[in-house]
Amino acid sequence: MKNIRIYDILKQKEGIEIGSVINVKGWVRTKRGNSAVNFIALNDGSIVHSLQIVADTEKFDAELLKKVTTGACLSVTGKLVASMGKGQSVEIQAEQIEVLGTADPEKYPLQKKGHSMEFLREIAHLRFRTNYFGCVMRLRHAMAFAIHQYFNDHGFVYMHTPLITGADAEGAGEMFQVTTLDLENLPRNESGKVDYTKDFFGKITSLTVSGQLNGELGALALGKIYTFGPTFRAENSNTPRHLAEFWMIEPEMAFYDITDNMDLAEDFIRYVVKYALEHNPDDLQFLNDMFDKGLIERLQHVDKEPFQRLTYSEGIDILLQSKHKFEVPVKWGIDLQSEHERFLVEQHFGKPVILTDYPKEIKAFYMKQNDDGRTVRGMDILFPKIGEIIGGSERESDLDKLLGIMRERNMNEDILDWYLDTRRFGTAPHSGFGLGFERLMLFVTGMANIRDVIPFPRTPQNAEF
Ligand code: ATP
Ligand code: MN
Repeated sequence: MKNIRIYDILKQKEGIEIGSVINVKGWVRTKRGNSAVNFIALNDGSIVHSLQIVADTEKFDAELLKKVTTGACLSVTGKLVASMGKGQSVEIQAEQIEVLGTADPEKYPLQKKGHSMEFLREIAHLRFRTNYFGCVMRLRHAMAFAIHQYFNDHGFVYMHTPLITGADAEGAGEMFQVTTLDLENLPRNESGKVDYTKDFFGKITSLTVSGQLNGELGALALGKIYTFGPTFRAENSNTPRHLAEFWMIEPEMAFYDITDNMDLAEDFIRYVVKYALEHNPDDLQFLNDMFDKGLIERLQHVDKEPFQRLTYSEGIDILLQSKHKFEVPVKWGIDLQSEHERFLVEQHFGKPVILTDYPKEIKAFYMKQNDDGRTVRGMDILFPKIGEIIGGSERESDLDKLLGIMRERNMNEDILDWYLDTRRFGTAPHSGFGLGFERLMLFVTGMANIRDVIPFPRTPQNAEF
């Protein structure tokens, strides 16, 4: 008999009639009952809710029912009936139960409800079996799907940029080196330095921190492109917002100035948030009730008013005038810390904020230089509870200005020669941004720690599973 997803049953999809005999497969969440009847909550991951299975003990071998423990996998065939019990509309009167896989109650770690997030991280390989992570994983999927949908509908080309790179997008280190050299026995050149000509690619290579530079080449040929893939940063920041391996969405558009860029970013975020509200209401309701009472309201709010746009300098003035005591003192030129960003977003404006025109010293070399000589056309989008969710800019399209800043920073022009060709041949105004997928997931799920919105987090000193 074809097995039916519990989602389809609980949503009473067409063709699933009360009174019909159906088969369901899933994992036992709980079993309770008495000598006459067992109530089994079965979950198959298709929806946060479990389906109640009613098993009359006289119909089944006692040995079989003993194996029905939390975590065991079952195939159940029975009649779908309206439920008398509270909390569910339908249930299954079991006629046949097959235990596909047992789960020793002495050993299966997910016995009780309400494990801490920290504990669940230690058993990240099993935490998908909890309601929390079921919700997070379904939402993660929905967001990934919505992202592709959005860009496809808006004429973007999905471009696959390389993960192994010989260039550093930010010129700022923090990269994981990729090598096949024998670290115990490194080849050396005459001057005693490691001889990378003997390495796999014949030069130093690393895992990418961003697909942007390659993306710009795509945009200046295809018009609008986006990347959506893993990026790697060896930054030693043990915070609830940083991962060493995270996924990034990076659109890059020819003929967009910074305002077009901001308009796109806002429209895009609205679209994916609305998508979650429309397509995953059960998951959001569960997370809202169990974890973050303001979640749904916060998500709905995103659609209600435009993000607050202001310049970095205006932001600094607001911070300077506030009575709030910041750990890092405020002055023009500082890289804003999350305490500053959150003050602007949560206390001052009470909505997402887009800051533009940052001091050039704290931003990447490729950002368009303003006429004032000290700021660049960067834009960061700051969100409640998270801080920076998007970093983007209009790009410097003038070759001489770009070379000027690269020389100021002692950057290696040879390594980026291919990139500079964008400015040599048919350069054009263009813009783009990077959105950290897991930062978006923090916002959409209300989770507090970025380790809890990715299946297998990689952070300093941790690459388990
Ligand atoms: P932060 O200041 O928060 O470290 P950043 O300035 O280094 O961020 P960008 O280089 O602009 O960030 O990267 C673009 C986006 O990628 C950020 O807005 C953020 O959403 C995301 N991001 C950056 N670093 C990480 C990380 N280590 N883990 C998860 N997401 C990240
Ligand atoms: Mn960073």
